[in-house]
Amino acid sequence: MTEFEPKKLSCPCCEAEFETRLVTGFRIGDKDADFCPRYLDGNPLPDFLHVCPECGFVGFEADYRNMDETKVKRVGTLLAGFHWQKNQSLGGAERYRRAALIGIYTGKRSAEVADLYLQATWCSRMEGENDDDQKGARRKAVKYFELAMAAEEFSPDDLPVVHYLLGELNRRLGEDEKALRHFDKMDDLEKVDPWLIEWRDKQKALIK
Ligand SMILES: [Zn+2]
Repeated sequence: MTEFEPKKLSCPCCEAEFETRLVTGFRIGDKDADFCPRYLDGNPLPDFLHVCPECGFVGFEADYRNMDETKVKRVGTLLAGFHWQKNQSLGGAERYRRAALIGIYTGKRSAEVADLYLQATWCSRMEGENDDDQKGARRKAVKYFELAMAAEEFSPDDLPVVHYLLGELNRRLGEDEKALRHFDKMDDLEKVDPWLIEWRDKQKALIK
């Protein structure tokens, strides 16, 4: 069973207080080739992001604590564009897409933004949207992973996984050349886990 714990949060943008729930436990079976977890008791990802029912701010629990005045101002401009309706409900994919945008406005690192877009594609799939609906967020995940690499946000230990993911995400976007470049780049890296090479070879073989 996915486990939750009730939690009161106070919104950094509009100061509303509201009840939400924190995920305290979940179980994962396998993973898809783009690392989307196959949860055994339902998808807990939407519940990691908390939505303020008053103004539509979306963030992890820590985001509710780490907002200064400048960030609040920037997010306010963004939220105004969302035309939030009080108590509106948001699915997981939409939560992650909005959290990614808010992350960009509040100066999160590109790697964090990339991760939010990647998780948006996972939620989208688990919520039954078709692959075309996942593509926008997948393209953005690729863009922000590339920006993060250019900004040297990853440690050398992270690079095998990042190149693998960029290979797989590009493959899913039909960008075969880019996919192959990232998959092949893994051969130049030191210390790549054997299971990752195995996954790479399997996904690479799908490219004609
Ligand atoms: Zn709020």
